[in-house]
Amino acid sequence: MTSSSEFDAAAALFGNRFAVQDTPDNTFPEQGMSSTEAFRLVAEDLAIEGDPGRNLATFVTTWMEPEAQRLIAANLHRNFIDHAEYPRTAELEQRCIRMLADLFHAPGPTTGARTQGSSEAIMLGALSLKWKWRQRQQAAGRPTDRPNLVFGGDVHVVWEKFCRYFDVEPRIVPLQPGKYTIGPDDVLPHLDENTIGVAAVLGTTFTGHRDDIVGINDLLLQIRTERDLDIPLHVDGASGGFVWPFLYPDSAWDFRLEQVRSINVSGHKFGLVYPGIGWLVFRERSDLPDELVFKENYLGKTDETFTLNFSTGASMVVAQYYNLCRYGRAGYTYIMRNMQQNAHRLADKLEEIGRFEIIGRGEEQLPLVAFRLAGPEPFDEFDVAWQVSAERGWMLPAYTMPPDAQEVTIMRALVKETLSQEHVDTLARDIHDACATLEQKGGAHESERAKMVVGPGH
Ligand SMILES: *Cc1c(COP(=O)(O)O)cnc(C)c1O
Repeated sequence: MTSSSEFDAAAALFGNRFAVQDTPDNTFPEQGMSSTEAFRLVAEDLAIEGDPGRNLATFVTTWMEPEAQRLIAANLHRNFIDHAEYPRTAELEQRCIRMLADLFHAPGPTTGARTQGSSEAIMLGALSLKWKWRQRQQAAGRPTDRPNLVFGGDVHVVWEKFCRYFDVEPRIVPLQPGKYTIGPDDVLPHLDENTIGVAAVLGTTFTGHRDDIVGINDLLLQIRTERDLDIPLHVDGASGGFVWPFLYPDSAWDFRLEQVRSINVSGHKFGLVYPGIGWLVFRERSDLPDELVFKENYLGKTDETFTLNFSTGASMVVAQYYNLCRYGRAGYTYIMRNMQQNAHRLADKLEEIGRFEIIGRGEEQLPLVAFRLAGPEPFDEFDVAWQVSAERGWMLPAYTMPPDAQEVTIMRALVKETLSQEHVDTLARDIHDACATLEQKGGAHESERAKMVVGPGH
């Protein structure tokens, strides 16, 4: 028998101890290991991870150019928040904010924040709504103890999270079967003097459509005149903020609309940067309450921060600035149009299969296909998602819609920059074949159905 020291020596010489040993998991390791061993341990563990190239569920960037990756690697050792030590990185952040304010038609110089993603941006934006509301109430001699926020059931979970974490009553407009966005008539009954704001979505996670932002803006303007209530509108452009300006430049949803006071966008979705980076942009400086900005004197300079997190990497700010310069309006438009064209092709191919109906074709939409079974089949959408994953490894989400449309099940395929026309054709064929298998075996087995976990994603 080989002694353990002989074994260790052989493993060090020939490769990998963990080929025949337990990996460290439950307890803090006593001894370390060589960097080669640690590298192989981690790399081989991840070798069987899901392949982002076949992840049709995520809105988040799964590919960047090699030059961007070089910049990311070269800036990993900088803490973004140390503005005094790293003033150039801070300047790149400010340039990104100014460029986004321009893209979103801000009327003049304004302000904003780099965040970890849209979730942090929404927390900060909604906190600003709450503070501004309190100021308005105090100025009018009205109570400040019952704030509410109005939004549709089509929002991301972060809006309910904000309400719970920061003690605001959520007033949620329910969806209906066939109606997956909201408009002014839905919002109106929920508005009163305690409404800190209305949140509208540009590109929902469920079907990729937008709320009637123009209609809601008109309603809020009317209420401002008739009832002397100034209720601000925040646009959640997590996905849409980097899509609409390029695919639908004439469709107004941003600061062209007067009541839109703040916008969030995820740099790591259609901003085409790896996670995590998001942005919050205000219409005007005065939309950010002074009390939320922390001023610190550091190294003899005053530094201002408006964030929930503190330390974080500088790389994704650098990568965002790279993308904005690299692509510009022309480049983003080219990429978005390609994605849209391939999404249309996928929708056509799915319709040709003859079993599916496409949700909201022809409307302004993110580059994705939302679809469902058109008629009764011996299987359902969850079965299709499972089967196409089992046969071909595609991660395709199937999910029920939020209330009151919870009877409706939808599948959704994101069509990203790297999903080529050839991939689209293959995917459609694989979905066709998965349906044929399911038909033959009369639906998925219960044990398979229990394994289906891909939800609406992010
Ligand atoms: C993804 C998403 C969010 C959350 O954004 P993160 O960047 O993942 O924090 C919020 N709202 C909408 C509409 C989203 O699509």
